[in-house]
Amino acid sequence: STVEQLIEADKKHFIHPTTVPKTLLEDGPKAIFSEGNGVRVKDICGKSYIDGVSMLWNVNLGFGQKELADAAHEQLTKLAYSSSFYGYSNELAVRLAEKIAGIAPGDLNSVFFTSGGSESNETAFKFARFYWDLKGQSSKKNIISLKRGYHGATIATGSATGIEGFHNFSGSKDSDIIHAKPHLVNAEKGDKSDPEYKDSIRHLIETKGADQIAAVIIEPIQGAGGVHVPPEGYLQAVKKLCEENNILFIADEVICGFGRTGRMFGVENWDVVPDMMCTAKGITSGYAQLGAVLLSQEVRDTLVSYDGIIGHGFTYSGHPTACAIGLKTLEFIEENNILQNVNNMNKVLQKGFDYLVENHPHVAKTRAVGLLAGFDLMQDRDTNTPFKQSIRAARHIVDHCFDNGLILRPADFEEQVNIVAIAPPLIINKEEVEEMISIIDEALTSFEKSL
Ligand code: PLP
Repeated sequence: STVEQLIEADKKHFIHPTTVPKTLLEDGPKAIFSEGNGVRVKDICGKSYIDGVSMLWNVNLGFGQKELADAAHEQLTKLAYSSSFYGYSNELAVRLAEKIAGIAPGDLNSVFFTSGGSESNETAFKFARFYWDLKGQSSKKNIISLKRGYHGATIATGSATGIEGFHNFSGSKDSDIIHAKPHLVNAEKGDKSDPEYKDSIRHLIETKGADQIAAVIIEPIQGAGGVHVPPEGYLQAVKKLCEENNILFIADEVICGFGRTGRMFGVENWDVVPDMMCTAKGITSGYAQLGAVLLSQEVRDTLVSYDGIIGHGFTYSGHPTACAIGLKTLEFIEENNILQNVNNMNKVLQKGFDYLVENHPHVAKTRAVGLLAGFDLMQDRDTNTPFKQSIRAARHIVDHCFDNGLILRPADFEEQVNIVAIAPPLIINKEEVEEMISIIDEALTSFEKSL
């Protein structure tokens, strides 16, 4: 049959990203998706799923949005591609850059286009280093990132990623990237009596010297590391610390950007304006490969003061079809009050979480900012005791939900960490949120029986 042929061809010819190859070779792909509508996707065997994580936190407007497809079709037939190297331009890239500048906080007024999140962060690292070169401070090369952060898969962005599993793949590392412990709010404010002070960004700056550090990169809410929301005051404290030490603050908004957290950008939840903001994913709702790095007026003015060639760019920087979809995505978000829906559905999700906490003793630390959500599974939530390593609680829940038609994502890279991430399309409605909760409810019951 076609399905069997596809499975065999997949095993033989298709190298999958971020997948255990052995499992694939033995079992074949878990699902071969073939169509989607709204928050639901179907696999080639006809089984339907609610996509509770918007695939890779990117299909924010769900599947089958005709307006996005039409915008793509129109541009593909008119001018599928044109270069923006060597002074060439195209209307869609210009219009999208202007649109993004209009919705971005502060003076983040100009945009460099990429093809995705890794390229956006890689670009920000290069721009940060180049910025300090142009300022005559070329010793400022180091980038500080946070443990548990995810920033991409290139050598530099993989090095910035603070999840060990992503470092094991290759011996190559960007040695100018150093890690701090996330969310030490008191230490970052300057409290030296914080027992974890020596792991803070502040301490790294003190020991390395501010003259060695170009930038700090932070996800407003850490996504792949397990949906970790910073404590109140943290982002503001880091921003202040950066200002005081002449260090650029880069916000990695690849997941948070374009409405995921109920605000247009994640940093707006804490009123912080970064020097550079890296985006991708939700900018096209996954309908095309696009990323954008937003630059403050000061960073932009410094870069464009250079009288040589800025030797950085990608063939698909400013891809007109990707930009046409991006523009339509942003219009769709505004015209359909998507942020309002995210905030309304957050309340429904929080109510669902309350129900799960009441009825399932191992559900802990539920959190949701907009529709970026997750919870821990713990042996004893009152004493903060994790499950012993052999109990793969998050996997159990995610696998059980998958069997019952709900796609979620486990975050269990570290030992004894069992987190379930939830990030459905931003167009989800009340009934669909409740359906997700009831599938998770059943999965938790199944897990409890397995203990
Ligand atoms: N930054 C964050 C916060 C991400 O979540 C991701 C992808 O998951 C990336 C960067 C890398 O983006 P891409 O996979 O598009 O290169």
